[in-house]
This record gives sequence, structure tokens and C-alpha cells, in this order.
Amino acid sequence: MNGSMMQLPLLISSLLVHAERHHGEQEIVSRRVEGDIHRTTYRELAARSRRMANALAGLGIKSGDRVATLAWNGHRHLELYYAVSGSGAVLHTLNPRLHADQVVYIADHAEDEALFFDLTFLPLVEAIAHRVKTIKTFVVMTDRAHMPAASKIPNLLCYEELAAASSDAFAWPSFDENQASSLCYTSGTTGNPKGVLYSHRSTVLHTFAIALPDALNCSARDSILPVVPMFHVNAWGLPYAACMMGSKLVFPGPGLDGKSLYELFEYERVTLSAGVPTVWQGLLGYVDANDLKFSTMRRTVIGGSACPPAMMKTFQERYDVQVLHAWGMTEMSPVGTVAALKGSQVGLDAPTRFAIQAKQGRAVYGVDMKIVGADGAELPWDGVQSGELMVRGPWVIDQYFKGEGGDPLVKDGEGDGWFPTGDVATIDASGFMQITDRSKDVIKSGGEWIGSIDLENIAMAHPSVAMAACIAATHAKWDERPLLVVVKKPNAEVTRDELLAFYEGRIAKWWTPDDVVFVEAIPLGATGKMLKNRLREQYGRHLLDKS
Ligand code: ADP
Repeated sequence: MNGSMMQLPLLISSLLVHAERHHGEQEIVSRRVEGDIHRTTYRELAARSRRMANALAGLGIKSGDRVATLAWNGHRHLELYYAVSGSGAVLHTLNPRLHADQVVYIADHAEDEALFFDLTFLPLVEAIAHRVKTIKTFVVMTDRAHMPAASKIPNLLCYEELAAASSDAFAWPSFDENQASSLCYTSGTTGNPKGVLYSHRSTVLHTFAIALPDALNCSARDSILPVVPMFHVNAWGLPYAACMMGSKLVFPGPGLDGKSLYELFEYERVTLSAGVPTVWQGLLGYVDANDLKFSTMRRTVIGGSACPPAMMKTFQERYDVQVLHAWGMTEMSPVGTVAALKGSQVGLDAPTRFAIQAKQGRAVYGVDMKIVGADGAELPWDGVQSGELMVRGPWVIDQYFKGEGGDPLVKDGEGDGWFPTGDVATIDASGFMQITDRSKDVIKSGGEWIGSIDLENIAMAHPSVAMAACIAATHAKWDERPLLVVVKKPNAEVTRDELLAFYEGRIAKWWTPDDVVFVEAIPLGATGKMLKNRLREQYGRHLLDKS
């Protein structure tokens, strides 16, 4: 017997319709590429998204077509989030930090029909325009006054002209909630980028889950500034969650330096933010150097790579900003776990509470997880044994776009598929998961695993260290040993021996890195993560060369 409730599909357009009807007056603030601070509302967002939906139809975009963006976080990008997916096409957010060759590869693979881009990326678009095979339409996301005077790209279209020439009367179509809505490519830190194709259903369910109090905790009283780019796994879903909850949205545009971010946090009374650890380093450096405080910001989501406990301490103890440590991946839309305390843990002493919050956290409803050993058998949740982390759920990937790489899922005895994350983790008795490494970053010393993240976290707690990466260096006797690569803070001094001594008492002695290499900068990938494979290429033989 079926239930007798309405069969309304879960569509992304419903988030916008809700925001317009119930939070129409709520503000959306954007620092734009043109240099101004732009203010709009959900009411206007909805009207302009409908205009763009009409404009897309006028450009010949049909249901299922891929429409690419190369854009910062801003209101026009948000309009496209809703206009493209809402009208049945697929929003493909390209990462502008990738090399031009990679952008061409990804755009061709996705078979993008149109490309909308911010002025900042004109040089990149000019470099790829004659190489991409399927993009027929190029639209600059600006007004006529700011259109480039001359460009190598013929027939460049102007976003504001398209919007002005289109009607704001558009009825969002209804279709199967399993229809594709958006497309992101993995950042390629592990091999060729592969496409992850989200559906309306997966996106709306993910939005419900992340907005909850024990996840990213979004409400109509929040002013949310996503630092995480809208081209990095849909800014972790915040552009959708803000619409669902009616939160104020504040977009930083291209201004991701500490000063620009801090100004927006203060002027726009931001209460919640989100970003990768490397971004927060810049912000904390600025706030510290200028002896500032956050007057309204109370929570920040940190994920994408492990949040160093030292950073968490600074946020929480010096600035009274609670860190929500979260873990996920492109293949998971992306949120999987958040380290929100349980009721039974609130009364624990501060160091114990802190240690729990520093883990990657517990699964949000909708995501199930397990760890397995080398033989594929599930390992106990004792917080000690580590194994490969596997996940499943309605916003977890089933297969990559175009079936790339075959079936990624591992079937267990009951025939259920689990997605192997490539992360190595422990899970404790309370269900808190802690990543010890990515499987390809694990250091295998004499057959035993050493977790590079622990070693990095300790180095990051040293007052003279700005950034630290720990990599596996080939070793004549032990196969691999940990090598610490360090960027010092400006004007700070620390020696190799002092750093190695800093590990004493903090970690098993045999985990102590064998050596330290001081560098000017650690290479970062397109989503702000340390490129440890690059470091391994450069310093992987360091211990051999030294001996
Ligand atoms: P890519 O896999 O190409 O780097 P993603 O942005 O999807 O792109 O990254 C997902 C990976 O990032 C996870 O599998 C994990 O290794 C890492 N990661 C994400 N969040 C955290 C976190 N809080 N702590 C440690 N690692 C994290």
C-alpha cells in the first residue's frame, strides 16, 4: 500500500521559489569583480534567475545541456545556479585555478555548450576559446560599460544585456527529481579529473542535511559568507542551504585576502563562514597582525583538508569563533561528517571536548560509513584500528560521469555498494571518524603506517611554523620515512633540531620525521590543498641523497 501524500519531485527550483515567497526581503551582498559592493534580495534573485532561464532558452540551451561557469562567488553566479539547473540544464562549475590545458580537457569531456565567465577570467577564456570543441556561446558576467573593448573571442555576449532583453516570466518546469542538475570534476590531485554528476534529488536531500543544527547549522538569522568557492563542490552546498533557510548571503567575489574578508565579515555582520584551512591562515594572520576581533562571527566550517588543531584553538580560544570541522569530498556532494558534540560529551573537560571536535566528526543522517581492513572486512569502531573509509547514501556517487573508470563501488556481502573514499580513518565508539591519511599519502615505514596528518598538526602547533607538509621519503632501510617540509612564519626562526625536538613526548618516537626541509612555499592545488605529490617528486629522494 502506498502512502497518500503528494508526489512533488525534489527540484532545485523549489528552493528558490521558497526563498522568494518566504524570505523575499532577505539580502544578498556581493563584492564584485567590477570593484563595487552589490546588494540584492531573494525576490530579485528569483526574478533575475527567471530572466536568465529565458535567456538560456533563447541561446538554444535545452534540458540536459551542460552550461559551464568560470566565476567567483557572486550574485550572478547564484542566478545561474538556479537558472541553469532550474530549467533542466546542467550547471558545470569549472575551476578557474586549473591550468588552461585541464580546463580544455574538462570542458571537452563535459561537452559544455555555453560558458559564462567573470571578467577576471578573460585571459584564461581567450587562451582556451579556440581550443574547446563544443562551447558555442561565451557570455561575460558583467554590464555593457565593463565589457572588454576588444577581445580575441568573436561574438562575446554581455550578461546584463541578456538579462535585460529577457522576460522575468518563466514557469520552472517540473521533471523527474533524478534528472541531472550540476556537474563538478574532482580536482585531480589523484589522476585525471573525473566528473561527478549530481541530481536534483541528491542536491535537495544534501541541502536538508547540511542545514541541520548538528551539521552546518544554518538559519534565517544567519549571515553566511562562503569563502569556499562556488566552483569547489558548489561551495559545499551553502548557496542552496541559504535559500532553504532564508539566510543572508555574503559573497566575497575575488577578494579572498585577509583584509577584504575581514571587512566583509564586519560590515555585513557575518555569523557563519566556511573554507579550507589555507584560506583561514591568511585571515588569521591579518586579524592577529592588526589586533582585531570578530564582532559577529561565531561559527566557521573548516574542511577540505584536516583543520590543524592549533588553528582551531586560535579561532575558539582567542576569537570566540566555534570551528565546525567537517569532512567530505566531491563524490559526496560534499558533506559526510561534522564534528558536532553529542549531549553526553558537552560536560567533558575542555581538552577532551577539544580532542573530539578536532576529529573529522560523525556522519550526518543520509551518509553511512564503515572502515575496512586490507581483506575488505569491517573493522571495529574502537578509535584505534584504522582502515579504508567507505561511504554510501543518496548524495554519494554511484558512478562517474560517462562511466569513467568503471564501477567505483565495492560490493559487500549483501550486494550493497560502498564508495571507497581513498581516506584512511579510525572511528571511535561514539561514531566520531578521524582521518589519519589519504591512502596515497600514507607513510609506510618498515611495514607500519605512519599518519602524515598527525605529524603535520604537531608541526603546525609550533609558533614559528606557517605551513607544514609531511611526506613519505624513500629510505634505504625502512622503505619510507617521514620527511617534514616547512614554511616558516615571516621573521620567525627555528632550526631543524628544534622542530624535531618539538615532537618529543607528543608522538611515538619512531614516528618523528627523519629530517626537515625548509621551503619558501608549499605548492597548493586548485582547491587550496597542499600538493603533496609535487613535494614527493621533489623531495622523495631527500633521505637517500643525504645518506
Ligand atoms: P580531491 O579528492 O580531488 O582532492 P575533494 O575536494 O573532493 O577533491 O577532496 C576530498 C578529499 O579531501 C577527501 O577524500 C579527504 O582526503 C580530504 N578532506 C576533506 N575534508 C577533510 C578533513 N576535514 N580532514 C582531512 N581531510 C579532508
